[in-house]
Parts: sequence; structure tokens; C-alpha cells
Amino acid sequence: MKNSDSKNLGRSKVEVDLHLHTTHSDGRLSPTEVVELSARRGLKVIAVTDHDSTDGVAEATSAARLKGLTIIPGVELDTSVPGKELHLLGYFVDPENASFGRKMERLREDREHRGKMIVDKLEKLGVSVSWDRVRQLAGDGSIGRPHVALALVEKGYAQHPNEAFNKYLGRNKPAYVNRGGLTPKEAVKMLTDHGAAAVFAHPTFFVDIGCVEGKTLLRKTLLELKDSGLVGMEVFYGGYTDEVVRSLKTMADDLGLIACGGSDYHGLGNPAEPEPGSVGPPMESVNALETSCVERSSRRAYPRRHIRPQRIRGSDN
Ligand code: AMP
Ligand code: FE
Ligand code: FE
Ligand code: ZN
Repeated sequence: MKNSDSKNLGRSKVEVDLHLHTTHSDGRLSPTEVVELSARRGLKVIAVTDHDSTDGVAEATSAARLKGLTIIPGVELDTSVPGKELHLLGYFVDPENASFGRKMERLREDREHRGKMIVDKLEKLGVSVSWDRVRQLAGDGSIGRPHVALALVEKGYAQHPNEAFNKYLGRNKPAYVNRGGLTPKEAVKMLTDHGAAAVFAHPTFFVDIGCVEGKTLLRKTLLELKDSGLVGMEVFYGGYTDEVVRSLKTMADDLGLIACGGSDYHGLGNPAEPEPGSVGPPMESVNALETSCVERSSRRAYPRRHIRPQRIRGSDN
């Protein structure tokens, strides 16, 4: 299969992007617009991975049919680890599964409460943004800190969303509000129990992999989560240097995890924001993810409903 050369470090001839957000969470483009942009940029397979929502998958799938693109239904979940960011991606989730849908709905309700708490905290700091405006910016999607960041930019409190995170919204910043929620193990298990492939997102948000302690903690965490069903880790990620990609690829190979990744596109208007397809894994990672779901499903007494009629293949066959 072509495009399987991991030496290209995920940058040349990218056909796969497994991390994209839409207006169903904190992305600024609708699913249709994300599909159109991805097609223009030469992508063949993309995953829609909104925070706590699979609501954008149906629209993306119909738009993709017209563009010859394949959509992998996905989701991004954040988990509760004291003092750290640990996000998980789930691939081949079933957007029509009612029990999964209810769980996502509860997580979105938590986001709503936390969003209001952030706005209150800002108010106490003398930084005034209206909750109604934040809610409006989020539309029908999962509300997140980027919506608050956009409201702060509109009011002139920051030049771009990243600056709003650096000043107010980031971890350890004055308007930060913790979310609690699922532990990483529970989240991996929840995804896996619903037939999805669980993947560790942007590992450098979790630890500094440039130091020995960080790398050791990442390795230990990955091994523990692998026991609960984790199958992959993001390696080819927007903004990663070649050195980081090489280091993560070696770790993924060592631990038997599928090397995944993507741009984590949001379109928020930050400087140097990665575009869809600026980076991504080889097609073989997609096939490995799908195989991991199929294998698990065939071991069950009642295999899950098949959500994809045929295997995804490289564009060359
Ligand atoms: P939330 O889901 O509300 O916790 O917000 C998390 C989202 O905010 C991430 O998916 C990113 O889009 C964005 N984000 C998180 N941390 C930062 C940061 N330090 N700078 C800019 N954006 C961030
Ligand atoms: Fe986000
Ligand atoms: Fe994330
Ligand atoms: Zn993301």
C-alpha cells in the first residue's frame, strides 16, 4: 500500500486526518464545510471528533458522499486526572447508539454548568462577558472554553483565543474551572464497551515528553490503559516537531499501539493554526483501527451492528 511510509513523519502526501472539530463542539466550520475543506486539501479519510458529541457525523457523512471522502465516526472525551489534561479519541463509534448518546448528553450538560461557572469567575475578576453570547457562539454544540475565549476576543480582552487561554482560561489561570468526570480508565472502557477504538490524544498535553519523568509517566499510563482496551496513540499531530513524532512513534511501536493523529482542526483564528491534512497518519493506521474494532466485535456473543459496509482501503487500491 502506498503512503505507508512512516519515515515521512506524517507530513508528505497526507490522505488521512483523524482529528477534526466542527460546530457541534468548538470548531467554527459546519460538518459540510469541514468535509469540503478536507476534500480541497486532498484528504481521502477523515474522522469527525467533536467533544462529547457525535451529532456532526451524519451531516459529514452525506457531504462526504459527494466528495468521495470517507468519514470515520469519532468523538473526543476529556478525562479527570488531577492537574493534567488527558483526552481520548474514540473511533468507529455508533452515532445511533442510544446508550452512548445519553452518556454524551450528560457530559454536555456538565459542560453547560462549567461554562456558566467560568463566566461567573471572569465576572468576579472584572472581566465581563455575557453567558448568552457564549451560548450563542456555541450554537447547538457542546460548549467549551474556546467559546468563552471567542467571547473574550470579541470584547477586546484578548487578541486571539490562545491569548484568552494564556490570560484566563488555561489550567492554573484565574478563570479555570475543573470538570471532574470519567477517569481515563472508565472512558477507555466506555468507548471499548460501545465497540469503538480508544486512542490517547495529543500526549504532550498530558506530559512533557522531553524529560525522562514525563516519558516514563506516559509509558506507564499507556500500559495501564492498554489493559482496559486502549489501541492507539496520537503520534502525527498538528504542530509536533519531527523529533516529537519520532519519539512518540517509537513508543507506540514498542507498546503495540496504533500510531494515529491529525490536525485537531478548530478554525478558531489562532496564529499558525494547523489546517486539515497538514499532518496525519498513514492509511494503514486506519485499517488497523478498524481491524481492532472488528476483532473485538467478533469475540462477543452478540457482535455490534456494523456501521461501515466495507473496509477502508488506500486510495491506490
Ligand atoms: P474544554 O473542552 O472546554 O475543556 O476546552 C478544551 C479545548 O480548548 C481544547 O479542545 C482546545 O480546543 C482548547 N484549548 C485547551 N487548552 C488550550 C490552550 N492552552 N490554549 C488554547 N486552546 C486551548
Ligand atoms: Fe477543542
Ligand atoms: Fe483535545
Ligand atoms: Zn481535539
